[in-house]
Amino acid sequence: MLLARTGADVTVVERLDRVGGRSSTIEAEGGYRFDMGPTFFLYPRVLSDIFAACGKDLSREVDLIRLDPQYHLIFEAGGELHASPNQTKMAEQVAKLSPADAANLPRFMSDNRRKLEAFRPVLEKAFNSVFDLVDPALLKSLPLMRPHQSVDADLSRYFADPRVRLAFSFQSKYLGMSPFRCPSLFTILSFMEYEFGVHHPRGGTGAVMAAMAKAATEMGVRIRLNEPVEEILFEGRKATGVRTNAGEYKADALVINSDFAQTMTNLVPNHLRKRWTDEKIGRKKFSCSTFMLYLGIEGTLPDLAHHTIYLTKDYARNIKDIEDGLELPAEPSFYVQNACVTDPGLAPPGHSTLYVLVPVAHRMDVIDWTREQARYRALVLKRLERIGLTDIEKRIRYEKVLTPQGWEDDMQIYRGATFNLAHSLDQMLHLRPRNKFEDLEGVYLVGGGTHPGSGLPVIFESARITSRLMADQLGLSQNWEPGTLMAAGQSALVEERVS
Ligand SMILES: Cc1cc2nc3c(=O)[nH]c(=O)nc-3n(C[C@H](O)[C@H](O)[C@H](O)COP(=O)(O)OP(=O)(O)OC[C@H]3O[C@@H](n4cnc5c(N)ncnc54)[C@H](O)[C@@H]3O)c2cc1C
Repeated sequence: MLLARTGADVTVVERLDRVGGRSSTIEAEGGYRFDMGPTFFLYPRVLSDIFAACGKDLSREVDLIRLDPQYHLIFEAGGELHASPNQTKMAEQVAKLSPADAANLPRFMSDNRRKLEAFRPVLEKAFNSVFDLVDPALLKSLPLMRPHQSVDADLSRYFADPRVRLAFSFQSKYLGMSPFRCPSLFTILSFMEYEFGVHHPRGGTGAVMAAMAKAATEMGVRIRLNEPVEEILFEGRKATGVRTNAGEYKADALVINSDFAQTMTNLVPNHLRKRWTDEKIGRKKFSCSTFMLYLGIEGTLPDLAHHTIYLTKDYARNIKDIEDGLELPAEPSFYVQNACVTDPGLAPPGHSTLYVLVPVAHRMDVIDWTREQARYRALVLKRLERIGLTDIEKRIRYEKVLTPQGWEDDMQIYRGATFNLAHSLDQMLHLRPRNKFEDLEGVYLVGGGTHPGSGLPVIFESARITSRLMADQLGLSQNWEPGTLMAAGQSALVEERVS
């Protein structure tokens, strides 16, 4: 969309039969529709700015429903929490677990408001070299960042009860990381949920992707589905186009959105890369993966929240199992989306869709998923009883299972690491593959593998950074307002509809 806005002649080539990639819709037989990946639509401001820059209005194209409660947390250790963006209601919920911690909620919010404000310019700019680190914005933000502290350690300055800390730190899993390792900067993730809301796009997150494809097409972008790129064409180090199963496309510049590590190791000859050779990529840290069940269910589930997160008693052990990858978690935490409670159109009348996500290690040779799949499915269905889903198996009318092996084979994601390269400090900013890709000429990156990182609002920001760099380089008019991430404290842009 942004490149078309600069006047560039844009062609998108996509290997699947649908747009959206990890964020696409699974249109299943029987009339069930599931989000494949993202179900928490957070911080719509970035995408809204992109639509506005293209003369369009996101809120007209997609019905974004703000959830309250935004999710239901159930702790195996005892207790529960109906997370609400309403501060009074939220304080009441936290007080049920720990009255002292409830009193610290306003301080957590105001500190993180300042933190986001300080770090915002860093998220919005490109990191093309180490010298970009000597940036006044970044230097100013450092004292608030506590760069060598983890999310969990930082939260202990506010919350003594480990369950409350979990309520504000499980979001590290959005980056595929452990809250005990994830840099403390990322306490802004939970803050942003409370400040700007957790939204459900009517029709699912795939509806947002469809709206983007529609907008792009209206702006003259050609979208070619079912056309896997089989080769990137080079003259020396300069990319000159791609060859798909349908033919060749020549281009002045190439934007790679497919999974970074998978694309480099499969489509770019190793000898062309200096910094990101196959060997070096192989030694990088990758995020966790997910074991997925997409279930079409007969009957409705009115008592189950839109989002339920079940947090296992020994969370640290669960995380260690995921990080080590030697065995599958025996008593895993899990997440269930019952989207039909808000959006009944996702299933035929009288039916529901259940999306079950269990964080597991990315694909490693020690776990043979062809052998483990059936056993783990049974274990997960049994585990669903913990949130009151005791009779689900006999009501299943459609079922799809996706394992780390499936993410790798079917979705072309390196090692099935669904959240891309890990977001450790040594793999962020200029140390992440750069938006203007440093190893090749005429190649730009967007998506979770480049700066700023994984997650929808952030990958939309990567698109904005990359489009600016590309427009500058190609001498195209950058005729859209730079746009800024929404200043913390301002009201959310979308008309709020509380479900
Ligand atoms: C299970 C799960 C849950 C998640 N939950 C959330 C959430 O709640 N909120 C949130 O904000 N984020 C969430 N995320 C993260 C979010 O999905 C990702 O950050 C984001 O979708 C990554 O986008 P991307 O453009 O980098 O990759 P992708 O969406 O994978 O896009 C890459 C595209 O390239 C295509 N492609 C690959 N190879 C080729 C080829 N050879 N030729 C042509 N095309 C090719 C793919 O088909 C795909 O369309 C979740 C992810 C997963 C997997």
